[in-house]
Amino acid sequence: MKGEPITPPVVFSATYSFEKSDDMIEVVHNRTGYIYSRWDNPTVREVENVLAKMEGYTDAVAFSSGMATITSTLLGLLSPRDRLISIATYGETVRFVSDFLPKMGVEVERFGPNEVGQCIESVKNGVRVLYLESPMNPLLRVVDIKPLAEHAHRHGALVVLDSTFASPVNQHPLDLGVDVVIHSATKYLGGHHDLVGGFACMNEENRVPVWKMRRTLGGVMDPMSAYLVWRGMKTLAIRVARQNETAMIVAKFLEGNSKVVRVHYPGLPSHPDHEIAKQQMHGFGGMVSFEVASDYEGTKKFMDSLQEITLATSLGGVDTLATQPVTNTHASMSNEERKAAAIPDNLVRLSVGLEDAKVITADLEGALAKL
Ligand SMILES: *Cc1c(COP(=O)(O)O)cnc(C)c1O
Repeated sequence: MKGEPITPPVVFSATYSFEKSDDMIEVVHNRTGYIYSRWDNPTVREVENVLAKMEGYTDAVAFSSGMATITSTLLGLLSPRDRLISIATYGETVRFVSDFLPKMGVEVERFGPNEVGQCIESVKNGVRVLYLESPMNPLLRVVDIKPLAEHAHRHGALVVLDSTFASPVNQHPLDLGVDVVIHSATKYLGGHHDLVGGFACMNEENRVPVWKMRRTLGGVMDPMSAYLVWRGMKTLAIRVARQNETAMIVAKFLEGNSKVVRVHYPGLPSHPDHEIAKQQMHGFGGMVSFEVASDYEGTKKFMDSLQEITLATSLGGVDTLATQPVTNTHASMSNEERKAAAIPDNLVRLSVGLEDAKVITADLEGALAKL
């Protein structure tokens, strides 16, 4: 029969058979084929290659979630007595870096987006990994990656970036000097709110310890999720382009509404990192945060008044989702911690989907009018 399928088969096989022992030995030592799906799987390899190519690295390693990616990657790259310096705000990442890594004997120092100067000073004292996140959750702060990466490299550090909020469309970390790029595939890559997964993209020398850590900790992506990401990636560029466009319309609408006291969107000149974002990013993204003219209870009511926009955590998909960070993602922080992180009770985080911009702004306008 002539003809080949143009979509990859979903290979559910857990294990792989061999004619001869020598063939198996060859695969064990040289990764020239498949032996067991916790090591490698053809469907997962297919999408790893798509990600690697898109980000410009020689390879990618796929995980069962964004957090499996972050934890396994850092554990793969770090040893006891190594130093890690980070500018990152994603809640679970902060927990891992501050609470867990020190127990493994890793020395950790964390900085906020306003402390880049102190971060640069600290890198001078020897460091193994500089861990960055940009844009950052939930205020969309953007760090100037290139000078930080150059400085880190001069001091022998690896630069790891969580680029989830940008997606590979709005930011090209390889050009900024990043060694390992991390994505939660749950967000823009999958894009349809129907899978949980993650990727680390890197060149061969950094791939080996990360791939080995995945093999040991076992947080590998499953073949069905790999297929769904593969399919999601087919429309990534067009989805993100539309989300960039709609988010800008929504951000401008919010900035002009009297019931909104502040809008956090890197595409607006009012954002503290607008100039950096303009230089560093190819698009400002689909995430918009804003503060409504109300308190904790009033903001909750605003959330409950939304009709078209879905009250749900997560981001990057086809549906517009809204959260009040203080009630969920930032609920475990103390009031002092929230104050230090500048996460007020009246903050709303919006992940703009693919609906008509008018539908989104009309829904926001209706709920704001009730405040
Ligand atoms: C969602 C997210 C993660 C974690 O990814 P999961 O797939 O939920 O484990 C990490 N970093 C950022 C920036 C995220 O948005």
